[in-house]
Amino acid sequence: MSLVCFPFKEEDVSIVVRNVEYAAQHPRVHAVLCVGYSKGETWHAIANSRAGIEARTGKRVILLLQKRIGLSLRGGKGDGMNTALLYFAENKEYSRLHFYDADIVSFSGDWITKAEQSGDLDYDLVRHYFPRSSTDAMITWLVTKIGFSLIWPNTYLPHVEQPLGGELMLTRRAVEVLVKDQRVMQQSDWGIDTLYTFVTAQAGLRVSEVYVPEGKVHALYGGLRDLRTMLVECFSALQSLQREQIHPLAGLHRMEPPKAVPTAVREKLGYDIEKTLKLLRDNWTPRQRELLHKHFDSALAKGLENSSEWPCWSFADEEAWVKAYPRFLEHFEKGDDDWEELLFKIWVARVLNHTLKNVVRGYDIALGTLRDLVRDTQHKSALQI
Ligand code: GDP
Repeated sequence: MSLVCFPFKEEDVSIVVRNVEYAAQHPRVHAVLCVGYSKGETWHAIANSRAGIEARTGKRVILLLQKRIGLSLRGGKGDGMNTALLYFAENKEYSRLHFYDADIVSFSGDWITKAEQSGDLDYDLVRHYFPRSSTDAMITWLVTKIGFSLIWPNTYLPHVEQPLGGELMLTRRAVEVLVKDQRVMQQSDWGIDTLYTFVTAQAGLRVSEVYVPEGKVHALYGGLRDLRTMLVECFSALQSLQREQIHPLAGLHRMEPPKAVPTAVREKLGYDIEKTLKLLRDNWTPRQRELLHKHFDSALAKGLENSSEWPCWSFADEEAWVKAYPRFLEHFEKGDDDWEELLFKIWVARVLNHTLKNVVRGYDIALGTLRDLVRDTQHKSALQI
């Protein structure tokens, strides 16, 4: 019997409440656990609809406030997910734990069925993956997949399609691996997805990625500025793991083949280009210029400095990003505003370069360049190990 968890902050309450009910209706689901960041509007909406959902479905809806577990980092989604892991670990009547973002408009019981079916084939961890727009998932592609390719090229990590996805199912065995691991329990921020993906791979668990063809329709970001904290925390999580070893043959990764990408996804542009161009001009300090020239390639340094005066992005090509990445791995300091701003600016320039050089040539070409970059980086890095 399964437990479904929705971690939530503040979301459209009608969608959250509807998703809780969909999950509770599923025959494999025994109870639904909602873990809130705080007792805000979304919390009260769930609390008010709980009795009705329980009466209609005959399932329990549990509402918990997230615990403060990882004390050295910002308390965020990691604490929320880890609160659910601890609840599951203590309540032995459940055999599987599902996580779904609370804000998914396209969520249905089919998502649970897909994960349960892979669980029946004895995978320890099942991840959902989706068709994505060619400008979406820029942290996944540029930070996580490139990082995995550079650091652990000969493992399955670079092949995980959506390693930061919040939709996944864990067996009790997988939960036990995660709760025992202090690296996981300390990761209270956006870095949590990186830790779950890395630690389950290092432990040699079996992973299946299932495809959800309708895609994940959810609340959108206002602009790339909204992603700064997520970028910093996802990069920093990877940086903290860089000296870890994984046996090349550890674990198993299987992926359900994707289907044709829906037109709406192919045509979607994920962010506001004009607003984003301005980000390259903002928040410069003399120390940023100093760090830039001290640690990075001169073409990249000059290009980024030029972009403080006039919009430009051609310097931030694929090669420049892959060259800059190890410099960040070595020198980046989380909490140092100049380092964080440099990471953000170089990433913004790379996203603009991808958009204005690759995305303009069409969806398939754009996705192809992202896949090629990961594969080439993985290959070159494997030859150096
Ligand atoms: P995205 O899917 O990566 O864009 O991230 P979202 O902002 O949509 O967050 C994913 C899910 O995590 C949503 O259900 C959020 O409400 C929830 N969430 C985000 N931050 C926190 C947090 O600090 N604590 C908890 N409990 N949930 C969070």
